Amino acid sequence: MIKELPSQFIILNAKLFDGLGNAPYMADVCINQGRIEAIAKAGTMHPSGVYTIDAEGLALSPGFVDAHSHSDTKIMDNPNADAKISQGVTTEVVGNCGSSATLTKHACWGDIESYAHELNLRQPALNIVALAGHNTIRSLVMGYENREPTRDEMNQMKEILDKALKQGAAGLSSGLWYLPGKYSKTEEVVELASVLKGTNKPYATHMRSEGDGLLESIDEAIQIAAAGANRLQISHFKATNQRNWYKLDAAFEKIENAKKNGMSIYADRYPYIFSCTSLRMVVPSPYDLIANIREYLQAPEHQAEIIKAFGEMGDKGPNWERVIVTDSIAAHKPYIGYNMKEIGEMMGLTPPEATIKLLTEASPSAAFGKMSEDNMHRILAKDWVVAGSDASSNAFDYTVGRAHPRAFGTFPRFFQFARANAPDEQVIRRMTSLTASIFNIPERGVIKPGYRADLVLFDPDNFKCVFDFKAPHTPCTGVRFVFVNGQLAFDAESPTSRGRHGSFIPIK
Ligand SMILES: [Zn+2]
Repeated sequence: MIKELPSQFIILNAKLFDGLGNAPYMADVCINQGRIEAIAKAGTMHPSGVYTIDAEGLALSPGFVDAHSHSDTKIMDNPNADAKISQGVTTEVVGNCGSSATLTKHACWGDIESYAHELNLRQPALNIVALAGHNTIRSLVMGYENREPTRDEMNQMKEILDKALKQGAAGLSSGLWYLPGKYSKTEEVVELASVLKGTNKPYATHMRSEGDGLLESIDEAIQIAAAGANRLQISHFKATNQRNWYKLDAAFEKIENAKKNGMSIYADRYPYIFSCTSLRMVVPSPYDLIANIREYLQAPEHQAEIIKAFGEMGDKGPNWERVIVTDSIAAHKPYIGYNMKEIGEMMGLTPPEATIKLLTEASPSAAFGKMSEDNMHRILAKDWVVAGSDASSNAFDYTVGRAHPRAFGTFPRFFQFARANAPDEQVIRRMTSLTASIFNIPERGVIKPGYRADLVLFDPDNFKCVFDFKAPHTPCTGVRFVFVNGQLAFDAESPTSRGRHGSFIPIK
């Protein structure tokens, strides 16, 4: 069991990274009542009668801030947050991609305030910041209707967002690639985003297209953000599908031009070339607009229709060897971790037939390998790109489904890849203070007297994780201790025991 630390303790001999990008130096740091109390050059604090931890030269950084999480409900079920805390994450931003379970009608909550109350009762291991999602808000008002909102419905959506922001939501998110966001025209999101005006809170978007329509979607995102606080966060920035990889330069140019014109634009990225979403997202147009695809597929003639549509896609169709099933019902356990070509062979079916069979029986998650490795490194090298896992805080233990390895490995991989192009202190800034400033998270992301003591003590050269879809629930190496609000939250010597000292952070 992890020992509780006294309210005052001192970390000696740490290589201190302040989070702001300044060069590191050897320091002693005193923590008191959950906050950083004092920082001094190493060897100058001479504690007597105070509990001390000898860092032995390891790096001490602000706790990492995950810009892009989907832990909204996962953190309620798994407040230990194994996946995130074990890699040094001390704050997650949830409610991304338009989907914010914080606002859905649940037995225990239904708005930001009641969610925050319930979360704090469950004592999460880390801190949670929440965006309000357009898809969730739209579905609360209009269900999954494929039409424009009426004036009255539009006003209701704006009221829900306004209330969420007043209760501490960090901004508005959208997922225009998903239903029901896909049903909405740009003007609808522009009008909703206008509620952000005057708040200084960002519009964070999973864009309408990250592939064939990437450049048009960046224009749309900029247009929407301009109607709000003129602040844009592009989620999991990428150019998807090989035929679109070349568009990255033009995408960079659009973003950097908008920056020059005064818009505050940042992006987040996970350091993997496989995305992870619902398997249903392979279904071609126009079947992609069907709200409940599983129900639709219960009719055998509908199954045949979609199998035929896959055939008609030609070389625009999925590369089945790069579609890996990651999570599903217990009956699908033999297929987890395998690609659709392998699963087809196991079933004695073609990959499209096997896919339709899985979608008829359940709603599996799948990873899609459609990104360029070279583009990924170019994106991670940008000083306006911060680390975001696009994953939930999964537990070490699992019964059926496995997370995308990014759930456990985003921060070590982001750090190792990005440090090839920038000094460590600059990379750490993009895992800490920059992200905190994007979402206006107070008193976090910097090691500074008076700030909250969210800290990670780690060995930069050993901070690594193994990439493997068949064993992704493995903690990374190199993290020694993680502190949340001045208490021990993770100890590498006893990785499964957890002190839980996080809380919901309302954003003003
Ligand atoms: Zn997304």
